[in-house]
Formats: sequence, C-alpha cells, structure tokens
Amino acid sequence: MDRIAVIGGGVAGLSAARRLMLAGHQPILISPDPAVPNRGETLSPKALTLLEALQWGHLLDADSALPGEGRFSVWGDATLRKAPDQEGLGYHLDRVQFERLMRTALLADNIERISSTVTAMEHLPDGVGLTLADRAVITAAAVIDCTGRAALSSGAAAERRRLDRLIAAWRVLDLPDDADTAAATLVEAVELGWWYMSPLPGRRMMLGLFTDTDLLPTGVAQDGPRWVGLASGTHAIAPRLQSLGLDSVAADAAPAIAPAASVAVRRLIEGRIVRAGDAAAALDPVGANGLATALWSGLHAAAAALALAKGEADAGMAYERDYLQGVTHQLATQQAMYASEPRFAKAPFWRRRQIEPSASDQQEKTA
Ligand SMILES: Cc1cc2nc3c(=O)[nH]c(=O)nc-3n(C[C@H](O)[C@H](O)[C@H](O)COP(=O)(O)OP(=O)(O)OC[C@H]3O[C@@H](n4cnc5c(N)ncnc54)[C@H](O)[C@@H]3O)c2cc1C
Repeated sequence: MDRIAVIGGGVAGLSAARRLMLAGHQPILISPDPAVPNRGETLSPKALTLLEALQWGHLLDADSALPGEGRFSVWGDATLRKAPDQEGLGYHLDRVQFERLMRTALLADNIERISSTVTAMEHLPDGVGLTLADRAVITAAAVIDCTGRAALSSGAAAERRRLDRLIAAWRVLDLPDDADTAAATLVEAVELGWWYMSPLPGRRMMLGLFTDTDLLPTGVAQDGPRWVGLASGTHAIAPRLQSLGLDSVAADAAPAIAPAASVAVRRLIEGRIVRAGDAAAALDPVGANGLATALWSGLHAAAAALALAKGEADAGMAYERDYLQGVTHQLATQQAMYASEPRFAKAPFWRRRQIEPSASDQQEKTA
C-alpha cells in the first residue's frame, strides 16, 4: 500500500494528480464520468504561473480559453468603471473543455483511473481504506480529497461552516451571429445581490444573478422572462444584453441554480487524508479565485500527501497553514468589496454582508 489516491476529477483533483505524476508517483484517480456544468468562469492571472508549474500552460488554447480584455463594474455608485489590471487579465474558460484537456493529458501519461464515486473512507494504521460505489474496497497510503463542495472526507473535526446563503441563477447564451463584443467581464451590484456577464470561447456569454437563496423571488428559478426581468433598470447589464441581442435569448429558458456560498474550515488534514480545492474551503465567486485556488491547493496537497505517505507530517502542516492564511486574506478582500457598495446598505443581501463593528470599536464608541 504505497499509492496515493486522488478523489475527484475537477481542477483541484486533476492538478493534484498531475503534480504527483511530475514527481514520479503513479496515483489512482477516482472520479465519476464528468458532469461539469458548462458555466464559463474567469481564470485569474494568478493561475498562469501555477499552470506553468504543472507544465500545462499550453492547455489554454482557442477552444478552452479566451484571453480576457478587462473587467468592468458598476459597484459603489451608478458609474461604469474599468478595474485596474496591473496583475494581468486572465482568461475566460470553457471549463468542460479545459478539464477534458487536463484529463486527456493524464490518460496519455497512463494514469490509473477508476470511474466511480467513493462512498466511504476509513482511517487505517498506515493509510486509508476507500469504499467505492460498487462496494469494492481499495487502500491507499494517503488520499487527496478533491470532491468539491461535497467534501466527502470532511467530518466534525474539520469544523466546516457555511458563512452565507449565496446561490447563482445562471445561463450560458449563444451570441447572435452579428453581435460584436469584447472579451470583458461585467459585474453590477443590485439590491438583490450582483449580476455577472462573462464571455466563453465559441461565441457564448454567461449571465448570472448572484443572490441569497431565500431572497430569489418565488418562481424565478422556473421562469426565464422573470429572471432576466430582474435585470431591468440596471445601468450596464440590461443595455449590454440589449445591444448584443441577448435580452430575448436570455428569457427563452429558466436559469440553472448553483450553490455558491462561502464555506470555511479549521482543518484540512485528518490522519492521511488531505483536502484540496472546494473540498477544503469554498469562497464566494465575487473574488474569481476558486479555480486558481483549486490549482494551487492541488499542487501543494500533492506534496503534502507524498510526505504523509512516508509518515512525515511537516509538509502537511505547512500546506494547511498557508491555505488557511490565504482563505483569511480572501475573506477580508471579499468583505471589503461588499463594504464598498453603500447604495443598498438597508437591503437584506447587503446588510448581511456588513462588517460587524469589532468589540474594540464598540468599546471606543461607548467610552
Ligand atoms: C456559479 C459559480 C461561478 C463561479 N465562477 C468562478 C469564476 O469565474 N472564477 C473562478 O476562479 N472560480 C469560480 N467559481 C469557483 C470554481 O468553480 C470552484 O472553486 C472550482 O471549480 C473548484 O474546483 P474543485 O476541483 O475543487 O471542485 P469541483 O470542480 O466541484 O470538482 C469536484 C469533483 O469531485 C467529484 N466528486 C464529488 N463527489 C465525489 C465522490 N464521492 N467520489 C468521487 N468523486 C467525487 C465530482 O464529480 C467532480 O469531478 C465559481 C463557482 C460557482 C458556483
């Protein structure tokens, strides 16, 4: 029993498997056949060096990725602004295609893949026992849990907490033949939350409303015209939809609903199980960092698992510390971003995200 098992075939799992193979290890990748919703997501410029470290920079090709041309927002007041882009512009991903390219590359390197789900895990004295959907049991010297928000291995000791009730009501729309658009992202704050519009390769556009699950008006999830109607009155989203000829296209079917809440944890490692990607912690997509975090954590969780498989704990502790510091930093950035929108301060979505005055602030006020 000297092999490492990677559970989950999303960006985190594929990145962990690749890192293990680059280190000369032959992992087992366990994941059901992919059923990734083709959402269209922004790959932050921070991800590019991580892809280079995985020797996968070339996977960002014309079918999988569109080079970004900027991020525009209406946030804080009614003015449309372009965000500074000192860090670079990133890409707009077709995630299905991108993950397919990653998987194909691993299969070309003869990775052992089991197309199944894991239903149970058990700590063993020198490894982990895994039960598969067909009740077969396999053992591994260490496991990297990359099962996304399902977070298969996350028990009470992980202290996993959901911090909000964010969901996305979204669709991917085909651009009309005559629509001419820049590959730019547009974000607009509204009373209910925020709208997001972002292009995908292949002349498509993702449109999403991010709000809390209890705030989405009843029936909108089943009603395309009512969903897109919620964008009427926006300063930039509605005019852009109209200018691209997408307003009627958007209304012709109901949106899909995806959970998008932030989930924080205290522990990433239990025995010889290491969690990575959304299985470790999932953050509000407003930061557009989930994919870069999945790549980073896959890479570093692999190093931690290699050490754990030899009974060494230090690399795991360093990974857990760095990951949790990163989450704290990202949560603070997220809070600052929500705090920079004062127009809807009394609306529930924004009130819930206001920073609680700290105890010392309170003391100062009462002094
Ligand atoms: C609406 C929305 C928009 C987003 N937009 C962006 C964006 O613009 N930019 C960005 O960077 N991030 C974005 N994110 C976040 C990003 O999608 C995630 O952070 C990232 O995909 C996480 O990757 P992952 O590999 O950890 O998990 P996932 O992609 O969820 O992969 C989990 C894998 O585990 C498998 N699995 C699950 N259970 C089991 C089991 N029991 N056994 C075996 N396999 C299992 C699944 O089949 C899947 O293959 C967005 C998220 C949402 C919800």
